[in-house]
Amino acid sequence: MKYAIVGTGVAGIAAIEAIRSVDAAGEIVMIGDDPHGFYSRPGLAYYLTGELHDKALYPRTAEDYRQMNFRYMKGRVKNVLREARALELEDQASIPYDRLLIATGAQALPLEMPGANLEGVFKLDHMDDAKRILKHARRGKTVVVVGGGITALELTEGLLARGMNVHYLLRGDRYWGSVLDERESKIVEARLQVEGVTLHHHAELTEVIGRKNRVGGARLLDGKIIKCDMLAYAIGIRPRLELARQAGLEVERGILVDECMRTNDPHIFAAGDVAQVYDPSSGRSVLDSLWGPARQQGYAAGLNMAGRITAYVKAPPFNVTRLAGLTTTIIGAVGSGHDEDVIGIARGDSETWRSLPEAMVAQSGFDVNHVRLLVGEKRVFGAVVMGDQKLSYPLQKIVSEGIDISSIREKLLAPDARIGDVVVEFWAGLRN
Ligand SMILES: Cc1cc2nc3c(=O)[nH]c(=O)nc-3n(C[C@H](O)[C@H](O)[C@H](O)COP(=O)(O)OP(=O)(O)OC[C@H]3O[C@@H](n4cnc5c(N)ncnc54)[C@H](O)[C@@H]3O)c2cc1C
Repeated sequence: MKYAIVGTGVAGIAAIEAIRSVDAAGEIVMIGDDPHGFYSRPGLAYYLTGELHDKALYPRTAEDYRQMNFRYMKGRVKNVLREARALELEDQASIPYDRLLIATGAQALPLEMPGANLEGVFKLDHMDDAKRILKHARRGKTVVVVGGGITALELTEGLLARGMNVHYLLRGDRYWGSVLDERESKIVEARLQVEGVTLHHHAELTEVIGRKNRVGGARLLDGKIIKCDMLAYAIGIRPRLELARQAGLEVERGILVDECMRTNDPHIFAAGDVAQVYDPSSGRSVLDSLWGPARQQGYAAGLNMAGRITAYVKAPPFNVTRLAGLTTTIIGAVGSGHDEDVIGIARGDSETWRSLPEAMVAQSGFDVNHVRLLVGEKRVFGAVVMGDQKLSYPLQKIVSEGIDISSIREKLLAPDARIGDVVVEFWAGLRN
């Protein structure tokens, strides 16, 4: 059996691990156009702040790769020739396959406005972007950050840590309104202000102003100009669908796959940020841009490619991240609306989070230690845990396993509920 995998991200790597767990002899070739190969993309945030060296972002060693026993080819796949079952690379090389995985990930939406191509305008997709940002960042200089979700905040904090004066533009009246509620947004914003970030609400960027071909300022819709030396943006991402479209596969916002990660061509699979996967909790096919689901989808795809039929059951997505220095876990459906700063989906985000189920909200805690639950008749649909993380693991389990919480529902929804104590006690009871 000949396997071809396009994309050297976590979905592609997990697929190879899965194939090798059941097929020691098949030929595997992996093709990728990122010169840095496989590394932790979420880790780029910590590389920007200086907390991690770039060498710490590579999760596999040369020995790991040797044991996985595959051929690696650097390059971009240009065409999938479905009839011939072969891939065509940009340099004209042709690679035959019996089973193909498209794990091409997603890329940042471009900034489309005058001045977007000036030197000093940055996105954060790849290791090379992070390196370029660090080369350009200068202590005491000014940067304007535009966008929403986790990546815009990572840019803000990374550049702040490098000693830059940061202006953060928000189109609406609060940060990440599609996932956080008003109180949570305000907690994050207050911390950013304490760290020295200048926040601008209802601020819409209309032009990046150039000075000798370099960034010199940011013009806003109301005519205001913020002088700056750099502009960084994270306004959303788009799955890389070029190959799937060229091959005539079924796509919507991502490549549509069945529960075995198979596309409408039985020889071709898709996984990770590029795949649009059926979500039993919402009954829709959704996009995730999360490391964990990309890995699980890649693994399921690999097993199926090797003939071990295995359904990928999409669990309620969760992410443990840091927002303005505050560890935050987001689990299941928690959404509260629309985020004006992001078009579509952002990095580290899940479309599942944005749905708001019919549920009551239970919340407690202010400032740093805050928890919000979406409580249905019998189960918790979603949760946001900020600060103290002792509830993070129990809530991940309670949400993802759909555990019946009717016995504590009233306590959770009581006006002065001590949600933390109620959940911890309930969890201890379950474990016993
Ligand atoms: C800055 C940042 C912060 C993030 N934060 C979080 C977080 O907090 N939590 C979280 O869970 N997730 C986070 N993510 C998202 C997470 O990293 C992704 O969900 C995950 O990496 C997706 O893996 P993938 O294998 O699907 O795609 P990718 O990792 O994007 O890999 C796809 C690869 O395919 C290559 N490729 C594309 N087209 C072709 C082609 N035609 N030919 C050859 N190669 C091709 C690309 O160059 C790329 O190397 C973050 C990502 C970034 C960039």
